[in-house]
Amino acid sequence: MKHTGSIILIFIYAVMVIILLWRVWHLWKRISSARKTPALSHKVSPIYTSGARVFFSRPIAGVLHTVLVVAMIIMSTYSIIQACGVRNHIWDITAGICAVAAIIAAIIFIMRRCWIRPARFSTLTPAMAADAYIILFLEIISGATLIASQYDIYGFHTAHYMTLVLFAIYITYSKHLHIITAWIYRYINRGRGAYDTERVDGVCMMMDMMEGKTTVTDVSCGTMGSNHGSELSRLDTLGVYSCSQCGRCEELCPPHIVGESFSPMETNIRIKKAIEKNTPFYPCAMDDDFISRCISCGACVAACPIGINPMKVLWEIKRYAYLEKGHMPSSYHTASQSTQNSRYPLPTYLDRK
Ligand code: SF4
Ligand code: SF4
Repeated sequence: MKHTGSIILIFIYAVMVIILLWRVWHLWKRISSARKTPALSHKVSPIYTSGARVFFSRPIAGVLHTVLVVAMIIMSTYSIIQACGVRNHIWDITAGICAVAAIIAAIIFIMRRCWIRPARFSTLTPAMAADAYIILFLEIISGATLIASQYDIYGFHTAHYMTLVLFAIYITYSKHLHIITAWIYRYINRGRGAYDTERVDGVCMMMDMMEGKTTVTDVSCGTMGSNHGSELSRLDTLGVYSCSQCGRCEELCPPHIVGESFSPMETNIRIKKAIEKNTPFYPCAMDDDFISRCISCGACVAACPIGINPMKVLWEIKRYAYLEKGHMPSSYHTASQSTQNSRYPLPTYLDRK
C-alpha cells in the first residue's frame, strides 16, 4: 500500500515538473519570437543600476518584499542541495531561519492587507488581490513544510518539494514573475532613455514612400508599428512580463489622475494578456479611445522602479493604428504636421502645447 502511494506521489511530482518545464518553454517562446531589440548606438556602462531608491520609498513593504524574496531563494536553493544528498548543519540553520522569516513576513503582509488596508489595496482588482494572497499562502506553506521536513515528520519532505514546484508553476502565470524577469529587464534596458525611439528613420522613409516622396523601396524596418507579440521588440515584451503592477506609474499618469479610464499599468496588463492569448493588440486588447489617452509625457517611465516603458509600447500600437491602418483621431492631425516638421511620427506633449 505504501509502495502504491509512493508511485502515485512520484507520478504527481513528475507531472508537476513537466508542467513547469512547459511553462518555462512557453514563456521563452513568447519572448524569443518577438522582434530583435535594436542595439544601442552608444556604449553603456556594464554596471547594473538598481531601482532600490524607488523600491524603498515605501520602506515597510520594501523590507517585507525583500525578506520574502530572499527567504524563498535560500529555501529553494537549500531544498535543491538537499535533494542532491548534501547535508550541512549551517545550511540547515540558515534555511530554518529563512523559513521562519518568510512565514512571519507573509503573515504581517496578510494582516496588513486585512486590517490596516493601505490605500493602494482599495484599487486592486479581485484577481490582483487573489494573486497576492495565493503567493503569500504558498510562501507560508513552503516555510512550514521546510521546518516540518527538518524534523523528519513523515510526508513533509514530499509536501515541501511539491509546494516548491507548485510555487514555481504558479509564478509563471502571476505578476510575481517580475521577481525573475525584472532583474534581466533592468540590466538589458540600461543606457536606454524614455524617449529612445526605435525604427523612426525607417517609419519616416515608409511614410515618404506612401506619399510618393522617395523612389527608395528597400526599407528594412518591415512594419511601422506593432500589433502582435511577435512585432514588439524582445525588450518591450520582457518589460511587459516584468511589470510588478505596483501602480507607481498610474499615480503620476496625467490622464489617469484626472479620472480617465486609462493607465500605463493597465496597458501592460492588457498587452500581457494579448501576448499570452496570441491575439492582436488593436482593437482587441485596446481600442482607439484607450490608446489616444496617452500624452507621451514619460512620467510612467520615470516613476517605474524597474524602468519599464509603457509609453513606448503605446507608440508602437499607435503607429500601427494611425499610420498603418489610418485610424488616426481627427484631433491628431497635428501628428502629420509634426512628422513633416521634425521627422517624428507622433505628436509629443510639447508639439501639442
Ligand atoms: S507617457 Fe502616457 S502612459 Fe505614461 S504617464 Fe504619460 S500619459 Fe501616462
Ligand atoms: S510599469 Fe512599473 S511602475 Fe507601472 S505598475 Fe508596472 S512595475 Fe509598477
